[in-house]
Order: sequence, then structure tokens, then C-alpha cells
Amino acid sequence: MKVHEYQARNILRKYGIPVSNGEVIFEAKEAAAVFKRWGHASVMGKVQVLMGGRGKAGGVKLAKDPEEAEQLATQILAMEIKGLPVRKVLVDEAAVIDKEIYFSITNDRAARKPVMIASAAGGMEIEEVAAKTPEKIVKLHIDPLLGLRDYQARDIAASIDLPRDYWKDFNKIAIGLWQVYKETDASLAEINPLVITKDKRLIALDGKMIIDDNAMFRHADLAEMRDLDEEVPAETEARKYGLTYIKLDGDIGCMVNGAGLAMTSMDIVKLFGGEPANFLDIGGGAGADKVAAAMRIILSDPNVKAVLFNIFGGITRCDEVARGILTAMKEVKPKVPMVVRLVGTNAEEGRKLLADAKMITAETLVDAAKKAVAAAK
Ligand code: GDP
Ligand code: MN
Repeated sequence: MKVHEYQARNILRKYGIPVSNGEVIFEAKEAAAVFKRWGHASVMGKVQVLMGGRGKAGGVKLAKDPEEAEQLATQILAMEIKGLPVRKVLVDEAAVIDKEIYFSITNDRAARKPVMIASAAGGMEIEEVAAKTPEKIVKLHIDPLLGLRDYQARDIAASIDLPRDYWKDFNKIAIGLWQVYKETDASLAEINPLVITKDKRLIALDGKMIIDDNAMFRHADLAEMRDLDEEVPAETEARKYGLTYIKLDGDIGCMVNGAGLAMTSMDIVKLFGGEPANFLDIGGGAGADKVAAAMRIILSDPNVKAVLFNIFGGITRCDEVARGILTAMKEVKPKVPMVVRLVGTNAEEGRKLLADAKMITAETLVDAAKKAVAAAK
């Protein structure tokens, strides 16, 4: 789950990381009011959407008087990003920046450890820096059991040539970020930019966090931060049924049981020249209701030109899946071809149930993928 910048900032602040003061507004005229109330010489208006690269997209702007603040907020609130209207703007104290640093902790799967990443070349061009001058980015693994050690924070500070005067503050920020990462079960905790201001403070101007959805059950407070307005509606619907669904850009809908099998199915669809419309894992032991919901969700995507069912019955029973398919077919009356491969527990019963359903049947996954790709063309 991604959280908004203003939410991430609140979390960072709770862990002792200095963050500039901001206020979220929903209407442009509030921007002018905040400007007057603060009495600063300037403020930043920042679009609050669950995406990076807002600066480059024109969603981060400086205003020098209340009228300008209102104008900018009006502009930002009129923006549409990835088809979704903008609803919130963060009005933030404008910092006078001397230097922008990139600083984050994420998971390094290959090393099976969290990794701290920093760069003296922080800011909006960090992707470019990573691509063209990777030597400007430093990485340091953290032992998950020992946690971040003071000397490691110093090592990072030294390797990005942070002036000594800031090491003590940096150490606190690094330890704070590690605690944020660990205690919120984040898969990413990022500050970009962490800035040195002209008046010689080290503060976070942006915060980005991704929380592991699988850990959400033990973070009721974080779960409340989920912004349903920013989600693809089908993904919200899927979560209600305990389905893992991720919308993609292709045209072959995929319904599979098991995440690994779902990934494999998508790979094989691609191997034969198709593009999956989604990732969908119905999970182990899914009953007919869940399958019907999954099918409704897949078919709600207008790009879908064919559906591939790949069910490997173990705990999941193929007859239950077939019943779910039949239920959903009565409701949604799909107009696209459907290819089904059922093997394993109760596969025979499942196939019998589907015999009259005018579905294309397949024996193997390769066969099923080929047929789905052909059907979508
Ligand atoms: P992102 O593009 O979505 O990562 O949004 P950021 O919050 O990181 O803002 C993008 C850029 O705007 C930063 O890299 C800074 O250069 C600039 N910026 C953000 N806040 C301030 C501020 O308070 N003062 C100044 N001068 N620039 C800022
Ligand atoms: Mn940023």
C-alpha cells in the first residue's frame, strides 16, 4: 500500500525525523488562508497523488503571495493524473535549499536484507543519476537482526561527503528511518530530497512509503490511511473478496490459483505473443463465490479480449471453480472467448460442469496459453 506524502511525513515526524510543516487543503482558497496565517515569504503547493515524479509533472510549485498560492492551488486541483482527478494539495513551508540528498531504505531481495541507499545527487533527477552515474549512489546492507548500527550511518554520511557538521543530525535521521522501515513493515521508506537548507538545517522535504500489504493486519492505524479514491476500483473490489488482483495493460484476462502459478501463466502468455490484462490469484481453496467475484472483476476491464483460466486443483477444488465460473457467466454474460485448463482435485467433475458452457478447453498450460492468445486476436 502506498501512502500519500503528507501521511508519510507524519510517520517520519513521529520517529524524530525533522520534516517541514505542511497543511493539506482541499479547496484553492484555503491555500491563501494558510499563506496569510503562516506569514512566511513563500510557500510550496504540492499535489498529493500516489505517484512519484510530481515535480516533473508540474505538481510542485512555489508561491510568493496569498493570491499566487490560491492560483497555484487552483491549477494543481484541476490537474488529472493517470485519469484520476486531484483532490488534495499540501501547502508546505518553502525551504531555501543548498543541497538535495537522496536517502532511502528498501528490501534487497537478492541479498535477503534491507538496504540503505543514499546519494549526494538527490532530487528529481535521481533515476537519471542511477542510470548514468551509478557510482554516485551508495548502498549499505542492514542486518535485520542487528538493525542499523551507528557506524553504518556514519559510513553512509562519509560516502556521500556530507559535511561533518551534519553527521549527528544525519545519524538521528538514519536511525529514525530504519525504525520507520522496520516498525511499519515498509518495503520502501524514502526521503527525496533530504535537504541542507541555506540556514543550515537538515530536513526532509518529501516522504514516500510503501507498506507491505501482507503486514496490514497488524497495523490498523496504517490501514486507515488507505486512500480508496486513488485506487483502481477493481483492485478495491478484489480486496473485499480476499483476491489479489493487479490490473495491467494487456488484453488477456488471467484467473489462476496461486501467485507462482499466476506469474508463470502470465509469462507463458507473453511467450506466445500475448499480453496479460491482469495478475489475479484466487488463492488456495477458493469457493464458487470468490471465483464468481474474480470473473466479474476480470470482465469489468473493457480491454479484455479473452480469458485464460489456469486452475491446478490441490486444496482448490476444480468443481467449485467451475461452479463459480457458471454463476458469474449467468450474471455477466461474457462476450469474449474463454479458455480453461483444469487439472487436479475434482477436475473431471469440473470439466463436466463446464461441458455446456461453450468454453475452449485445454490440456496443458502451453496449450491453454496458445489458445488464449489466438482467441484474443
Ligand atoms: P516528487 O517530484 O514527486 O518527488 O516531489 P518532491 O516533493 O520531491 O519535490 C520535487 C522537487 O521540488 C524537489 O526535488 C525540490 O527540488 C523541489 N522542492 C520541494 N519542496 C521545496 C521547497 O520547500 N523549497 C524549494 N526551493 N524547492 C522545493
Ligand atoms: Mn521527491
